[in-house]
Amino acid sequence: MQDQIVKRVVIAGGGTAGWTVAAALAQQLGPLLDITLVESDAIGTVGVGESTIPTFRTFHAMIGIDEREFMRSTEASFKLGISFENWDRLGDRYIHPFGDVGKSTWMADFHQMWLLAKARGFGGDIGDYCFEHQAAAAEKFALSKTVNINYSYHLDASRYAEYLREKFEAKGIRRVEGKIIGVTQDGQSGHVTALELDNGDRVSGDLFVDCTGFRGLLIEQTLKAGYDDWSHWLKTDSALAVQTEKVGAVPPFTRAISRSAGWQWRIPLQHRVGNGLVFCSEYQAEDEAREELLNNLEGEPLFEPRLLRYVTGRRRKFWDKNVVAIGLSSGFVEPLESTSIHLIQIGTMRLMQLFPFGGNFEALATRYNNQLILETERIRDFVILHYTLTRRDDTAFWRSCRDMEIPDSLSERIELFRDSGIVFQGPDELFRVASWLFVMLGQGVEPQNYHHMGALLGDERVRKSLESLKGNISGAVANMPSHQAFLQKYCGGT
Ligand SMILES: Cc1cc2nc3c(=O)[nH]c(=O)nc-3n(C[C@H](O)[C@H](O)[C@H](O)COP(=O)(O)OP(=O)(O)OC[C@H]3O[C@@H](n4cnc5c(N)ncnc54)[C@H](O)[C@@H]3O)c2cc1C
Repeated sequence: MQDQIVKRVVIAGGGTAGWTVAAALAQQLGPLLDITLVESDAIGTVGVGESTIPTFRTFHAMIGIDEREFMRSTEASFKLGISFENWDRLGDRYIHPFGDVGKSTWMADFHQMWLLAKARGFGGDIGDYCFEHQAAAAEKFALSKTVNINYSYHLDASRYAEYLREKFEAKGIRRVEGKIIGVTQDGQSGHVTALELDNGDRVSGDLFVDCTGFRGLLIEQTLKAGYDDWSHWLKTDSALAVQTEKVGAVPPFTRAISRSAGWQWRIPLQHRVGNGLVFCSEYQAEDEAREELLNNLEGEPLFEPRLLRYVTGRRRKFWDKNVVAIGLSSGFVEPLESTSIHLIQIGTMRLMQLFPFGGNFEALATRYNNQLILETERIRDFVILHYTLTRRDDTAFWRSCRDMEIPDSLSERIELFRDSGIVFQGPDELFRVASWLFVMLGQGVEPQNYHHMGALLGDERVRKSLESLKGNISGAVANMPSHQAFLQKYCGGT
C-alpha cells in the first residue's frame, strides 16, 4: 500500500470556483493537505453568477456556513424558483419552482392524478399543488419548524468569493497573489509540476486544480484537453451584464424573460438587482443587444453593461493527468437554470471522494470524468428543453431554436411525456420529476394519455383530495410574511 504521495494541492484562480474548492478542502481534508491558492487581483473574476439552486444549501451545510452570516455578507435574498416569461409564446409566463407536487406513490407520480382530473374537467393549475410555487407567486417567504420549504439564494458574486476567503483562509489556505505566466510540466509524464508567477516565484504541487475561468490555463492552454462545442443546441454565445439600483420589493425568484435573440435575467438582491442579456451574436449585433437590455431595465444602471463572450460546451476531460478543471475552466452551460455553481460544488465533492492520495491518477480521473460528463449532459438537455419547446416564431433566432435537431435522449423524454404523462429523474441527474413537469407543461406540452390509478378512487375522492391539498397550501402561504418583510427581519436588509 502506498503512503500519501499527493499532499500539495495548488488551486489556480480565486473566483467562486477557486475559493469553493479551497474552502471545502480546508474544511474537510485540511490536516492531510498543504493547500495553496494563486490568484491575480489585476485579472479579477468574471463578476457574474448570482442565482443558485437548492443543492447550494447542502454544500454550505457541509462546509459549516451560517446562513444569516452568509446572507448578510453577500446581500443575498431567498429564491424559490425561476419565473419564465415569453418562453412558450409572447405574453406567457410560468414558474419553475424548487418544490415537488403532491405525494407520489410507487406506481405513479401525483401529477398523473391531476392529469386525470384535467381530463374530467377539474383540477386547476398544477402550481396549485406545489408549496414553493404558490409562495413564489404570492412573493411570500418564511422559515420555521413547521414550514419545510425548498429554497436557494440570489447572491452578490464578487462578495461571495471574498466571503469564502475571509472565512476559510485562516483554516490553512496559503494565498499567493500573482499572475501565472508559465506552467512547468514533467518531461516524461506531462504532469504539471509548478506554476511560474510574474514576480519570479514558483508554486510547486502534486495536484493542480484549474479554476482560472474561461482561460483554462492548465487544462486547455497547457494540457490541451479539447472542447465539445454545444452551440448548435444552445446558440447563445454572448452576455451583457449590468447592475441596477433596487426598485420595489425583492421577489423570491429569478426572472428569465425571453427577448429577440436570447433572454434577459433579473436577479434581485437585498441592495441591488443583477441584470443581463444573454444573446446569440449570429442573430443580434452587440449594439442592438445593448439597446434591448437598456430599454428593459427597471432601475438606474450602476455602470455601463459589460460584454462577456463564451462557447457553450465542455472540456473533453475535466480531469487530465494531475489537473482537475473546476468552474468555467471546465466548460459552460449557459445560465438559464443557474447550474454553474452547482457544478463547481459537485466537482469539488467528487474530487474529495476520489482524491488521489497515493498518486494513482488515471483510474480516478476516468471515474470522475464519467460521472461529471453524465451530470453535465443531463443539465445541458434540461436547458435545451426550454429552447426547443418554444412556439415563438416572431424572430429568426426563435424559429431556429424551435426547428433545431435535439439530442435523442431529450426527444425521447419529450415524446414519453407527450404520449403518457410520464417524467423521470435518471441516476446522477440533477433535475427532479417536478422540474421536467413544470417546464414541459409551462411550455405547452399536453400529454395525450395518463395513468389511470386515480380512477380507482372515483372522481369525487380525487376532487376532494386535490381541493384539500390546494387549500392546505394556500392556507399556509396566506399566513406567511412577504419575502421582503421576512428578508428585512432575517438579515436586517433594506
Ligand atoms: C453571463 C453569465 C451569467 C452567469 N450566471 C450564473 C448564475 O446565475 N448562476 C450560476 O450558478 N452561475 C452563473 N454563471 C457562471 C458563474 O459565473 C461561474 O460558474 C462562477 O462565477 C465561477 O467562475 P470561475 O471561478 O470559474 O471563474 P472566474 O470568476 O473568472 O475566476 C477566475 C480566477 O482565475 C484567476 N486567473 C485567471 N488567469 C490567471 C492568471 N494568469 N494568473 C493568476 N490568476 C488567474 C482570476 O484572477 C480569477 O481569480 C454565469 C456565467 C456567465 C458568463
